[in-house]
Amino acid sequence: MKAMILKAANVPFEPAELPDPAAGPGEAVARVLACGAGLTIQHIKAGRIQAEFPRIIGHEITGEIVEVGAGVKSLAVGDPVTAYYYLNCGHCRWCLANLEPLCNDSGGNVGRNCDGGYAQYIKLPAHIFIRLPEGLDHKAHPAEIGVVTDALATPYKVLRRARVAAGATVAVFGAGGGVGIHQVMLAKWAKARVIAVDIARDKFDACRKAGADETIDPSSCDVVEALRDLTRGEGVDVAIDYVSSTSTLEAGAKALGRRGRLVTLGGAGQPFRVSSLDMLLKEQDLLGSRYVTRVEVLETLDLVARREVWPIVTDVRPLAEAEALHERLERGGITGRAALLMP
Ligand SMILES: [Zn+2]
Repeated sequence: MKAMILKAANVPFEPAELPDPAAGPGEAVARVLACGAGLTIQHIKAGRIQAEFPRIIGHEITGEIVEVGAGVKSLAVGDPVTAYYYLNCGHCRWCLANLEPLCNDSGGNVGRNCDGGYAQYIKLPAHIFIRLPEGLDHKAHPAEIGVVTDALATPYKVLRRARVAAGATVAVFGAGGGVGIHQVMLAKWAKARVIAVDIARDKFDACRKAGADETIDPSSCDVVEALRDLTRGEGVDVAIDYVSSTSTLEAGAKALGRRGRLVTLGGAGQPFRVSSLDMLLKEQDLLGSRYVTRVEVLETLDLVARREVWPIVTDVRPLAEAEALHERLERGGITGRAALLMP
């Protein structure tokens, strides 16, 4: 099969011709139609997230099962699939509680600890594949459907984690990013009032198109004051932070109103200070949100199948152009997600 390989961190992709993977017991192999390209995997390529090399990266796949190994009953040849990002065990108490991202025996991630989707075929433990629900034309929209499993499902889960209700005011920090812009879209879908916060002003038009009611550039104003002004001094109900630097986390916490919720989703993952008195007097919550469960991937795919929301994929190219696409990702030049089509 044709694949793009990374032999180490911070080196260009190398095109390679490899033997097709074969499904062992409990495994399945899918032909990959498309694979999403976002910052998470660019972080792996750039060495900012650790991985084992040589590696085929990529996890936001749309594929079709071509082989199932011995003992696999959950999949059949021809099934359209995507992949769950975490190589969770499926047996521990967190997996059994339907909280798979918290698995205490996780094998890591697809495209980081095992080979991923930048190839014509992908082999995974069968339970990591997620069969696509009815109503999705995966052949017509492989790029859009592939990115649902992360770029769209991750913010969908946050709606529940942060208890986003109709009429709530939601500030999204890093709203111009690949997942942030889908958070804007989903908060709007949940009938919230959405304020997009980002220093990338060139992404504001896209944020508004995705559903942002207001935009704030924190490099040109005091973001906490701006958020208070937009809420008549009350503060926001929910601040969702995809940047998670000390300054954005502290701004998000300060901008919260009574019963406000701050959610961090990785990014820089820096420490920050909050006022415990504010937390007490205003009954505020500080929350972390880590990826999604399988059910949440399925629910998000259903939303897309019903066309209630539709992923923003603005740069789709053949696999051979992976390096150029990742250069553009590194520069912050992509709006929404990018994707590669397999030969
Ligand atoms: Zn587990």
